[in-house]
Amino acid sequence: MHKKMLLRQRLPARRVRSLLVLLCVFSVCCGAYETPQRVLFGGDAEFPPLEWTENKQAKGFNVELAREVARVGGSKAEHHLGNWPDVMRALEEGHLDVVPMYYSAERARRFIFTHAYYYPSHSIYALPGAVRVSTVEDLNGRKVAVEQESFAHQQFRALRVKPELVITPNTLTAIEVLLTGKAEYAVLTSLAVDNLLDKNNWKLERMGAPFWSRGYAFAVNKSKPELAEWLQDALSETIASGRYQQLYYQWEAELEPANADKTLVNLLWITLAIVMVILLLGGSWYWSLKRTVTLRTRELRDALTQREMAEQELRHVANFDSQTGLAKLQYFIEQVDDYFHSHQQPVKQEKEILILKLVDLDVIVRTFGFSRAEMVVSAFAAHLVKLNDSLAAYLGRGVFAIFTNKCNVQALFDRLSAAMVISDPGLNSQFVGGSAYWPEHGRSAGKLMRHAETAMAMSVARRRRWMAYEAAMEPSRLDLDIISIFIDGNVQGIYPVFQPQLDLRTGKITSAEILVRWQHPRLGFIPPNVFIPLLENSGLIEQITAQMIDEAVRVAVLLRKRSLPCTVSVNIAAYDLIETNLADVISQTLVRYQGVASDIKLELTETSVASDPQRVKQVLLELSELGVYASVDDFGTGYSSLSYLTMFPIRELKIDRTFVGDMIGNPRNHSIVRSTILMARELGLTTIAEGVEDDQTLQLLKKDGCDLAQGYVIARPMAEAEFIEFMRAHAAELFDISQFMKR
Ligand code: C2E
Ligand code: CA
Ligand code: CA
Repeated sequence: MHKKMLLRQRLPARRVRSLLVLLCVFSVCCGAYETPQRVLFGGDAEFPPLEWTENKQAKGFNVELAREVARVGGSKAEHHLGNWPDVMRALEEGHLDVVPMYYSAERARRFIFTHAYYYPSHSIYALPGAVRVSTVEDLNGRKVAVEQESFAHQQFRALRVKPELVITPNTLTAIEVLLTGKAEYAVLTSLAVDNLLDKNNWKLERMGAPFWSRGYAFAVNKSKPELAEWLQDALSETIASGRYQQLYYQWEAELEPANADKTLVNLLWITLAIVMVILLLGGSWYWSLKRTVTLRTRELRDALTQREMAEQELRHVANFDSQTGLAKLQYFIEQVDDYFHSHQQPVKQEKEILILKLVDLDVIVRTFGFSRAEMVVSAFAAHLVKLNDSLAAYLGRGVFAIFTNKCNVQALFDRLSAAMVISDPGLNSQFVGGSAYWPEHGRSAGKLMRHAETAMAMSVARRRRWMAYEAAMEPSRLDLDIISIFIDGNVQGIYPVFQPQLDLRTGKITSAEILVRWQHPRLGFIPPNVFIPLLENSGLIEQITAQMIDEAVRVAVLLRKRSLPCTVSVNIAAYDLIETNLADVISQTLVRYQGVASDIKLELTETSVASDPQRVKQVLLELSELGVYASVDDFGTGYSSLSYLTMFPIRELKIDRTFVGDMIGNPRNHSIVRSTILMARELGLTTIAEGVEDDQTLQLLKKDGCDLAQGYVIARPMAEAEFIEFMRAHAAELFDISQFMKR
């Protein structure tokens, strides 16, 4: 019955379940057996993985299955493992109830078998290097170890093949026999041998293909059919419930070494694949990460660069003037102070702060408009940028600052002037400067800037191109005294002097310049170069102008009445032209002394003329209607072109003494003087040269066609009485130049 019902190792669960139901129904109907309280199971002590003893405990797949089957059947399994022949005997004698073993027809006669639940096979084993065999037939006559009472043992008894059998009590001993050379080969259950070889690290070779694959089942003592029936039912239920499968899966690696090997290989492959995938993923992750990092880094770097550029731009906008590209004041001061801090001791190189001012800028704006003025500023800035080892700043309204090594400023000015003539030939822009030195004049940028500014203001006041700072330039007690004296209006000690002007065409003295002198009772003699700029800048010059106009007209009328006609020339400040009613003052003075228009003429600087062209033009027109004409003083030091000046009602050009003074030694100045005379003549203007100090210059001026001359060679400025005597003494005779030259 069991033979027919042998089941495959892994039974389809549904079919088994329906079979179980049928069996249960049959059992219940028949009441075939009673559930045993405990079942004694036996087995080989050394037959892993199916069964073995470890620490006196039974282990293995058979053991666990027996326990599960007993539990499912409502009973309890008890295991007794030992040498195989003993176990077989104990089962036959009824000391054991059940022993799992290979099914065979011979055994089926001695025991009752359940369905097979497992199909192990056998193999031939030998030491490495043994003569190769491939089938059981090859073992004929060989020394072959087999386990006593094993399936193999039975088979050899039944077969024609007759090896010399070495019988051992269990599988382990069979292996030992083989290892010690007591047998050449062994025929054993592959599963158990492979397991033991692995465990003990023994080297045996498996020869040929596995064979004798047999069903493995529970064998029950022949006298216990009810137990066998119960066992079969419990086994079926264990299989049907899936519990067997679970157990099998737990033991699969050991029960199916080939599969286990495959599993191992698969596992290796899978591991390898996983490693590859991990490597690939890792690689691609690494590359993508690297790419991301690179991209992100680039993005960040770009963002950073952009930010830096924006910051730089902001810094540039904050620190540099947009029109000129030069530093702004604050940045300039910071940079200069930084330099001073880091070069304090010892000072190896003296430094200089030079402040430059385009003096005519306001005039250029009024005359030509802002854009032309901006062009001048930009051109000047461009020349400053080209200076080596210096930092230039634009402070606004035509004022610049340069931080440089202490240098020859005159040479620098000549270079800048030449560059400006080239960049804007039509506009002879003038600039003045003032310098302060580090560390001589101060140790901070702020202080040096103030001093350079003072020096620059002094240059303007003294009509000089450039001056270096001196402590004496500071607004002094004297300056304050002067201003307060004029503010009070009680000015004592003012008197005029007169300096004759020689008519080079006739040799007569027909005009003179009135110059102010101040001998103050307390302060002493104060030169006009000291107090005139102070009064012009503080709007107090009006008093002096009025007084000089008065004296000029008075003396001129006096001389005319003595038949010594002399036009007296009065210096007029820009303030007088613009802020006072000059025409009224003059006409009232003429009326007061019964003067005529030719008794007086006016000397105005180019800068005054252009400071408020409309107003000046109107005042000069009023005066020319009165018959009073004007002369342009200090001609050649400003920017004005002659054609520009002809827009104003002027009659005379007074060539500045800086050109006249050294026109003999300086061909450039001589040519300026000569061309001025020629152009003036073309335009119907008379010319007068000031600062004529020697005969040779006087001669040359006459030769060049200059109309008038003024200077020490003719006469120094003289007080009224002396001047009147001078006029009287020389009027009687007809003077010509040679007479002056003889003196
Ligand atoms: P300025 O109008 O150019 O006057 C001529 C100056 O040159 C005078 O100096 C005169 O003494 C000087 N001078 C005359 N001949 C020679 C010469 O051959 N060589 C040299 N080196 N100098 C010569 P001063 O009198 O000291 O006047 C200086 C400046 O003061 C004048 O220059 C003028 O700008 C101003 N000033 C003088 N008096 C008055 C005035 O009454 N009103 C105004 N607003 N300014 C005046
Ligand atoms: Ca003058
Ligand atoms: Ca002059």
